[in-house]
Amino acid sequence: MSLIVQKYGGTSVGSTDRIKYVAKRVMHWRGLGHQVVVVVSAMSGETNRLLGLAKELSAAPDPRELDVVAATGEQVTIGLLSIALMEMGVPARSYSGGQVRVLTDSAFTKARILDIDDAAMRRDLDAGNVVVVAGFQGVDAVGNVTTLGRGGSDTSAVALAAALGADECQIYTDVDGVYTTDPRIVPQARRLDTITFEEMLELASQGSKVLQIRAVEFAGKYRVKLRVLSSFEDPQSPGPGTLITYEEDDTMEQAIISGIAFNRDEARILVMGVEDRPGVAFAILGPIAAANIDVDMIVQNIGASGQTDLSFTVHRNEYRKAMDVLERERGRAFQCREIKGDDKIAKVSVVGIGMRSHTGLAARMFKALADEAINIQMISTSEIKIAVVIDEKYLELAVRELHKAFDLEKAPA
Ligand code: ADP
Ligand code: ASP
Ligand code: MG
Repeated sequence: MSLIVQKYGGTSVGSTDRIKYVAKRVMHWRGLGHQVVVVVSAMSGETNRLLGLAKELSAAPDPRELDVVAATGEQVTIGLLSIALMEMGVPARSYSGGQVRVLTDSAFTKARILDIDDAAMRRDLDAGNVVVVAGFQGVDAVGNVTTLGRGGSDTSAVALAAALGADECQIYTDVDGVYTTDPRIVPQARRLDTITFEEMLELASQGSKVLQIRAVEFAGKYRVKLRVLSSFEDPQSPGPGTLITYEEDDTMEQAIISGIAFNRDEARILVMGVEDRPGVAFAILGPIAAANIDVDMIVQNIGASGQTDLSFTVHRNEYRKAMDVLERERGRAFQCREIKGDDKIAKVSVVGIGMRSHTGLAARMFKALADEAINIQMISTSEIKIAVVIDEKYLELAVRELHKAFDLEKAPA
């Protein structure tokens, strides 16, 4: 007998019919003799709806109260799934994050899991129950409801799997695995049988929403066996999905490039004509960090006559706040000629561990973009990634062309 954690995302629990279908799959796994812990998201669209209600009342809702509202979505689905399971004769018990005691820090709307108490869940499992846990939520040390950031149910599932020492964590979603890129943008995208942990981490951090980045981080830290699968396939004959592997030798596919990620979540800020002297990057980015704004890409160019331009990207939600901070600090912490911003940008990233051993990949990427007359605004690289910022209106074209340029529709020989 093994212990399996299964996570079902919003579309997979998007209606009572879908919830019944989830219950059937859970029943199937339990019938095979496994203990099953199920983590569910809110019904699709529900978290957006809830956050939208708060926004109707305030342009900047209090984060603690926002979490109180957002966490209700998952509370509905744990109850409904438990009812559906019981109706099929499967004993089930629902748990909110607080009831499990998924302990988090108090960073409302982006809390981090600190500890999970597995005692109550284990008792229930040992008594033969399916345990149904609300994803995306936890509770801080003083009992405040917290949420883990958008897409956070993936992280709940992996963290529970780690805490319980589960044999496998299965992420069920509306695609049958991790693809070379989002199949909604490139229909020719190909499902990968396996992907290395490092590549998955990079894809997730660059915007592939199929797994939340913290889920991948958690999986790596605790070596959780993690698989992405479809909740739409027949429970009796499921596909293989995509397995995240931890050893490079495990990779059956030796592709140089594994996938392309993209996001529209960032905005670019350009501080022009800054005095070129030591400490200037700190003078500009220090107040941004002090305001708790995360910075992603940073580019600094030395211009003529002792001046420099610094550009960087922040999350689009924090764009206005970052611009306000800079306007406030301008003339105090630093002097500059002009501050400009653009929130109509997109970032496209090509990822693959083969970059370590192959050259010329950046040139291939830049040629594919040049051939389509797509201007590159910023570039950043890591050992296994090349990312570019472009005008948002070219995003889909860029992803399609890069997919072609790297032959990603073909399985590696
Ligand atoms: P869930 O609600 O189940 O958590 P998400 O919408 O968060 O589902 O994630 C699944 C979606 O991720 C897919 O529908 C797909 O459009 C998108 N996606 C983005 N990149 C990829 C990729 N490389 N492989 C598979 N799906 C991807
Ligand atoms: N319901 C939350 C969201 O929409 C968490 C999740 O789906 O993983 O972001
Ligand atoms: Mg998701």
